[in-house]
Amino acid sequence: MRLSAYPIVNLKEIPTEAEVISHQLMLRAGMIRRLSAGLYSWMPMGLKVLRNVENIVREEMNRAGAFELLMPTIQPSELWVESKRWDEFGPELLRLKDRHDRSYVYGPTHEEVITDIARRELRSYKQLPVNFYQIQLKFRDEVRPRFGVMRAREFIMKDAYSFHADEASLDEGYTLMHDAYHRIFTRCGLKFRAVQADTGSIGGTGSQEFHVLASSGEDAIAFSDGDEYAANLEMAEAKPPATVRALPAAVMTRVSTPKAHTIADLVTQLKVSAAQCVKTLIVEGSDGQLVGLVVRGDHELNAIKAQKLPGIANPLQMASPERIRTQLNAEVGSIGPVGLPCTLYVDHAAAALSDFVAGANEPEYHVTGVNWGRDLPDPVSVDIRNVVEGDPSPSGCGTLSIARGIEVGHIFKLGRKYAQALGATVLDESSSQVTMFMGCYGIGVTRVVAAAIEQNHDEAGIIWPDAIAPFKVLLVPMNWHKSERIREVTNRLYDELCAAGLEPLLDDRDARPGVKFADGELYGIPHRIVIGERGLDAGQLEYRHRRATETEVAPLEGLVDFLRERMKLSQSA
Ligand code: ATP
Ligand code: MG
Repeated sequence: MRLSAYPIVNLKEIPTEAEVISHQLMLRAGMIRRLSAGLYSWMPMGLKVLRNVENIVREEMNRAGAFELLMPTIQPSELWVESKRWDEFGPELLRLKDRHDRSYVYGPTHEEVITDIARRELRSYKQLPVNFYQIQLKFRDEVRPRFGVMRAREFIMKDAYSFHADEASLDEGYTLMHDAYHRIFTRCGLKFRAVQADTGSIGGTGSQEFHVLASSGEDAIAFSDGDEYAANLEMAEAKPPATVRALPAAVMTRVSTPKAHTIADLVTQLKVSAAQCVKTLIVEGSDGQLVGLVVRGDHELNAIKAQKLPGIANPLQMASPERIRTQLNAEVGSIGPVGLPCTLYVDHAAAALSDFVAGANEPEYHVTGVNWGRDLPDPVSVDIRNVVEGDPSPSGCGTLSIARGIEVGHIFKLGRKYAQALGATVLDESSSQVTMFMGCYGIGVTRVVAAAIEQNHDEAGIIWPDAIAPFKVLLVPMNWHKSERIREVTNRLYDELCAAGLEPLLDDRDARPGVKFADGELYGIPHRIVIGERGLDAGQLEYRHRRATETEVAPLEGLVDFLRERMKLSQSA
């Protein structure tokens, strides 16, 4: 491509709504343009990147034996009534009416449509397993569309759905997708982790999210330094401490703690560490009673773990100060487990404490030297906290680190949920009707582009991984407009690179070299070649990788081989 003819407009002023770097850079480099909240047009250079991602996804899905199809974006409401999601799906679902007053939705996902196809097309176990996928627009009326294409309202998803005669076959199909996702994100040149995810309201038996690691990610991920273990922070199990609880050494003492309402206040007033204190949170039980949850002062309650415990309302609901006052005769800010008239669940780490500090259930007072089994009953010890950096990995190997990630893919064993609701059955070997098992597998294709930028950029702009770069090589000729010789050599190199499939972008504009370098850096073209008169005298060109700080000499003859070598190097980096 010759830049002088390429329809690309840099933006000098970054709109204030662009909070994250990928959104800013995509606007500055003219890759996308905003039409309305959460709606973006993909301009030619942006679309090239998007297509590169799509092609990798398509190749790997085909390789894994999935079949591409295409379903309508607009779906009749009847199917959603059948699956019950017409009522269950919140305001994210865009509902429409046609001229005959019939109801439709703009698909946020396609389980209903594909299950309808399956119940019509699939009759026998002999047609199974089968996996159908599409790469297509979705619409979700997000509460807060933001971060550009990262959380848009309209976006492109690759969604796949597999159908199986039994659970063992679903497990196999799921593993195939897991492996395909590994290849896809590896080929895209991204650093990522497959993490165990919560299966949420669908239930289901297995679910993993694929996260691109980036400091700006919305999700916290816990991963082991000892093996492949990784999980969403909410999901990661906190093991009980390996050591036994020490014997009581102190006498329980009621101490005055004026205005100490937080753990931080206690730490300063009593000169104890937060890890020696406990916090007691009061939540609604499932039977109208209140339940106390005790965690160590330096730990955070994990709502997802807590709401799964018997007798606790799901979703977790904090009790109001009023309810705590009337039911427990205690004040928020002074609650502690000693003598508290309600069921208590105690986190493993808090249950391992001796001689600890807790609220005295009396304003402005705490108790020190508290011991389980002596001053209050032995604790019901459970896992109800978030893991922290340095905790032992639940896999039994290594310790945990916490990183931030952007969810770019999600694989999910749906089981029979949709097949049951829509009556999708096949005849098995003994000619009886069996309900099919299903898996679903999504990739946020447009989000992958933004996530790649979040992970790969510097002050000057984007740094594309080779595989998804819109152009792989930037050719910058010096004195293009003045020197016949430069034009001749550059045109020859350009043709050679095109023929070799190296996708060059030739900056043939009448602009200063500084401008050309800066734009090339903003656009993130990974390999740059400068063609200058002096170098040509010696048969030499100048090469620089987008990440490098120094330039190197590249040969005029054999440039294609030289670049191929560099591309191999940057792939393995
Ligand atoms: P999130 O938790 O980010 O809202 P989700 O769990 O609702 O996503 P899924 O239903 O699992 O999303 O959809 C599959 C993939 O589609 C996600 O892994 C993500 O990459 C992408 N995706 C979901 N919502 C959006 C959005 N609003 N904009 C862009 N991509 C999205
Ligand atoms: Mg998800």
